[in-house]
Amino acid sequence: MASDIEIARAAKMRPISEIGEKLGIPQDALENYGSTKAKVRADFIASLDGRPDGKLVLVTAINPTPAGEGKTTTTVGLGDGLNRIGKKAAICLREPSLGPCFGMKGGAAGGGHAQVVPMEDINLHFTGDFHAITSAHNLLSALIDNHIYWGNALGIDQRRITWRRVMDMNDRALRQIVTSLGGVANGFPAEAGFDITVASEIMAILCLSHDLADLQRRLGDIIIGYRRDRTAITARDLEADGAMTVLLKEAMQPNLVQTLENNPAFIHGGPFANIAHGCNSVIATRTALKLADYVVTEAGFGADLGAEKFFDIKCRKAGLQPSAAVIVATVRALKMNGGVAREDLKAENVAALKKGCANLGRHIDNVKQFGVPVVVAINHFTGDTEAEIAAVKEYAATHGVEAVLCTHWADGSAGTEALARKVVQLAESGAAQFAPLYGDDMPLFEKIQTICRRIYRADDAAADKSIRDQLKKWSADGFGHLPICMAKTQYSFSTDPNLRGAPTGHIVPIREVRLSAGAGFIVVICGEIMTMPGLPKIPSANQIRLDERGQIEGLF
Ligand code: ADP
Ligand code: MG
Repeated sequence: MASDIEIARAAKMRPISEIGEKLGIPQDALENYGSTKAKVRADFIASLDGRPDGKLVLVTAINPTPAGEGKTTTTVGLGDGLNRIGKKAAICLREPSLGPCFGMKGGAAGGGHAQVVPMEDINLHFTGDFHAITSAHNLLSALIDNHIYWGNALGIDQRRITWRRVMDMNDRALRQIVTSLGGVANGFPAEAGFDITVASEIMAILCLSHDLADLQRRLGDIIIGYRRDRTAITARDLEADGAMTVLLKEAMQPNLVQTLENNPAFIHGGPFANIAHGCNSVIATRTALKLADYVVTEAGFGADLGAEKFFDIKCRKAGLQPSAAVIVATVRALKMNGGVAREDLKAENVAALKKGCANLGRHIDNVKQFGVPVVVAINHFTGDTEAEIAAVKEYAATHGVEAVLCTHWADGSAGTEALARKVVQLAESGAAQFAPLYGDDMPLFEKIQTICRRIYRADDAAADKSIRDQLKKWSADGFGHLPICMAKTQYSFSTDPNLRGAPTGHIVPIREVRLSAGAGFIVVICGEIMTMPGLPKIPSANQIRLDERGQIEGLF
């Protein structure tokens, strides 16, 4: 089979105005970026208020393994499948970060015959949203240092500044740095550092804001650091929120592109799935729901992190009511969850697969806890055997759900017809009775315990007194109603990445808690969380170049 980029290049893209027409978006409501990308204008989006919403379908997955699950690929495949069976469907995805493309990650625009295009653009500069977010973030960083330079009227304690800098590149050299060296004219030397742009709180804010006014309010709420007396200083105190909003005005408008089969795809915002909530923007999802009868969207990582945050943070805060969830599983990943080494994945191994299915079963039960009906999508890889596929179907049935074999990677929408019909049946059944896992008014530490016990199936969460005191202080300061954003390994229900399957009896140690007052959640860090990745020994950048026709080679 051809490579992803070969398939993407062979795509017959339609002008973006035609894609917009499918959703009833008039020509003048699109701001074109070339002929195959456009932003949907904010005034048009505002005019959709009051229209009924379509059905929202979440695509999530079992715990990821190096064998790959294919959430994005399945999201695209299902969107195309729904269109194929005559539904007016759109998909919503995150924008990929540019940095990892030059490391080893590969693209994030789907794969095989289920991709969004133009994939090179989507994976690189796209419509400049990440540039805008980077600029808004670093404007605030510059304003902080400038404020201190000119006398520090707010009394910012330089040792207690929590606002760092960002760039969209994997650059470990910038993780921890010293700024303002070189003399009096350059300010006061201080420790500082860079995160990757997708880890910026502004990325999370952009993705959770309803409109520009909400965006500005949230930007103003950002806590940049503390005074000596530990009182918080916000971006509003620095009068930074207005200028930051100006820089983000265009970036707030969702991007419209198309799938290989010329169906509409919104790609907008891309927050990290650990220290943030890992889904595309609320504004893109809401716009899609006003324009399409079905909206298929993806949440990052496995369902323990991705779906939980999608439900407890995004849906709760945006008032979204998901109608169904698709849990993607692959035979390969289930075998890995059953203890098979990566080198041995090619061989049939029904026994290991059955063992690994415990991981799938727990995710099924977890998603059901939110009141959302579930179907399992078996994302077919060419090496899967009939006995293995049958075993997954049988296992899913023991949890009361159907597992549907999907071949969209090889066949496009023809491979997801059955899944699309099942999703329609679930969504139309009205079985969904969505509710978040915990109420807003539950004490913060109890919220953490609830997630650890009911989703991770841990015995408990463990935190030092200092962490519990911090949570109490935030409650006293008026942040007790916020939801929790868990940051832990995506590879296991536990905090040990090597513990696959469905572990029980573990304790979740809380290492640190952070308040994202603008985004509106409390980040709970369990284990090492990297907010500025590095490049591998042989980065894919070494192979990336333009060929004699000016086409990009080596990117995917
Ligand atoms: P996720 O969104 O879960 O991270 P992706 O959909 O981005 O996963 O897929 C990860 C990689 O796996 C992509 O490079 C994609 O082309 C590949 N892939 C996905 N599904 C299949 C499949 N059925 N067969 C072969 N490769 C696949
Ligand atoms: Mg993905």
